[in-house]
Amino acid sequence: MKYDELAKYLVEAPLYQPKPLEGVVPGKTTVLVEGLGRRPRAEPEFPVPKAVERHCTACGRGTNWRWEGALGSAERIGLGLKWITYRCKNCGGELFSVWILVSLSEDRLFVEKVGQHPKLEIALPPDFEKALGKSKDFYIKGMRSRHAGYGIGALAYLRRVVDDRIYDMLAVLEAAMVETGAYPAAVETVRRARAGKVFDERVRLAAEVMPGHLKPGGMNPFALLYELQSFGLHERSDEECCDIADAMDEAMKYVFTELKSRTEGAAQYKQAATKIQKALAEQRARKEGQAGT
Ligand SMILES: [Zn+2]
Repeated sequence: MKYDELAKYLVEAPLYQPKPLEGVVPGKTTVLVEGLGRRPRAEPEFPVPKAVERHCTACGRGTNWRWEGALGSAERIGLGLKWITYRCKNCGGELFSVWILVSLSEDRLFVEKVGQHPKLEIALPPDFEKALGKSKDFYIKGMRSRHAGYGIGALAYLRRVVDDRIYDMLAVLEAAMVETGAYPAAVETVRRARAGKVFDERVRLAAEVMPGHLKPGGMNPFALLYELQSFGLHERSDEECCDIADAMDEAMKYVFTELKSRTEGAAQYKQAATKIQKALAEQRARKEGQAGT
């Protein structure tokens, strides 16, 4: 991972999965070498990420957290076991601690999360929980496996969830397309995809016709799901499977929360606009009526 991915790793990674940290330039320190006195040695070290983003249970939402550096505690992290603490910037009350082991292996620097408090939880935003319906149990089992580092198990559960919920996801896409005025032919394709039976075919069709304005930053959750669902499991490590499970989780959450709220937002806007137009028309009619008398 790159250094700017470290903050996310500290918050979200499962325990005991060492990741190589790239782009760290070794700093110079002096070490005592027996018989030779103090000698300069290049030791890799990197700055503590000063801020992370995570869910705060006290605030009930995602917030920014600031590094809680006690007086004299190092701002740079070297080799060994390190304890880093963050405080929620919003409420100022909640603390998050993470323990990492920094090591060198064949000249590569590795960071491994070995502990955290509070422990990893399963985030279920209300809309998402509702959308999961009967698949919620499988989702929770999948995320529990993921948090324990059992990526292969996690992936199997999440694939099942995606399989079971694809009809609903396509319904969200269809509604979003109708509400935001997509081409009728594209909407018709999504309808056909929903009615289909073969998973691959349904998701591929949806991915192909998803309009650009529903893909902020070019994210096409259906293209992603299509690709991830068909990824072979053989020869993949728990770690790789964890990453795939995370991407599936994000794609699903995007459809059931972001895409859905966009549709609702567009519908509300339409309703408001209709109301305003009606009020304006009434006013105009009244004025014309007055002018006529
Ligand atoms: Zn808070």
